[in-house]
Amino acid sequence: MSAQYVMDTYNPNPVAFARGEGAYLYDTEGKRYLDALAGIAVNGLGYAHPVYTKRMQDQLAKLIHTSNHFRVVEQEQLAERVCKLAKMDNAFFANSGAEANECAIKIARLYGHQRGVENASIIVMEKAWHGRTLATLSATGSRKAQAGFEPLMGGFVRVPYNDFAAVERVAEHNQSIVAILLEVLQGEGGIHVADAAYLAKLREFCDRKQWLLMIDEVQSGIGRTGKWFAHQWTNVVPDVMPLAKGLGSGVPIGACLARGAAAKVFKPGNHGTTFGGGPFVSMAGLTTLELLESEGLLANAAKQGEIIRAGLKQELSGVPGVKDIRGKGLMIGVELDRPCGNIVKRGLARGLVTNVTADSVIRLVPPLIYGEAQSKELVSLLCPIIKEFLAEAQPAAA
Ligand SMILES: *Cc1c(COP(=O)(O)O)cnc(C)c1O
Repeated sequence: MSAQYVMDTYNPNPVAFARGEGAYLYDTEGKRYLDALAGIAVNGLGYAHPVYTKRMQDQLAKLIHTSNHFRVVEQEQLAERVCKLAKMDNAFFANSGAEANECAIKIARLYGHQRGVENASIIVMEKAWHGRTLATLSATGSRKAQAGFEPLMGGFVRVPYNDFAAVERVAEHNQSIVAILLEVLQGEGGIHVADAAYLAKLREFCDRKQWLLMIDEVQSGIGRTGKWFAHQWTNVVPDVMPLAKGLGSGVPIGACLARGAAAKVFKPGNHGTTFGGGPFVSMAGLTTLELLESEGLLANAAKQGEIIRAGLKQELSGVPGVKDIRGKGLMIGVELDRPCGNIVKRGLARGLVTNVTADSVIRLVPPLIYGEAQSKELVSLLCPIIKEFLAEAQPAAA
């Protein structure tokens, strides 16, 4: 193996997986791992799902790509299905979460300009994550990710998360706001959940101001929290909703859904993409939604999430160094009082694939096909690792 020809953007663990089956991965040496990462909240159906594999093989043999200069039957079917699940009117298909968010940002700007707002601006959140293209990086609330890429794009106003008064204060002196963009459950930022009352106030405020409420469900959507979309734990419906990660079960696909006025903003020529929404990736989306439904994986995600959180709480509550255990469904965070990136290597040594985000939060986003056996296995593998880590590693000096 040689990594020297790969650009130095990641610092990968020295493990390469050769294949997967269900919720387990096997490395090139044949060692088995329980997967609690799912390719970063992507592989909801786990690995080598037989129905998914067969459908994709058939589609591969029929048609992969034609371009958006022709109608794409599979894209139209996926658009209808995902819009009905989300109570949205239409969808644009992209190839990643960042591109889905780019589409949302462009909708908001054009919406503003069509209403005569100059310098149309968007309220974004602290600790938000929307991607790494220049526009989405500018919307993202991570100084670490932004550093060195200035000048960042203007047109974003940042406020603290879960702080409605901060939004009202911005509205008082800034007449150029046209939209709010937020995650209802922040993923990369460290698994932070928005209060239902806060979301309801944002919805009402957006209606009053004629702003668009744009909810980034790239990580929290497609069944991960036990609902199709995490905002469906409340009565709030967004105007614009970017999707990606879990939508294609590993095939790169993103989507930006819109409703009402936001769904009427684009006309031909305003936006586009060569690859987006082709027959092959659209079949991946269609098959994913169909299997999540037919196998009852939304209810399963909620149930397994309860089992895992209860297990973690039983083992870790009161352990010095464990600050919080939180999340919804199979989007779970264990926050420690110190940076804990080292947990990942300890997990790999024991046959567990996991992840750390925001420096000190162990993020668990396993495949939605977990059974009770996998949920219990995860708890019994992870808890000793955390306890050993806390016993050996001193907290960083404040
Ligand atoms: C991962 C993520 C993105 C970016 O998606 P990419 O496919 O990496 O471009 C955007 N928003 C949220 C909430 C995410 O979790």
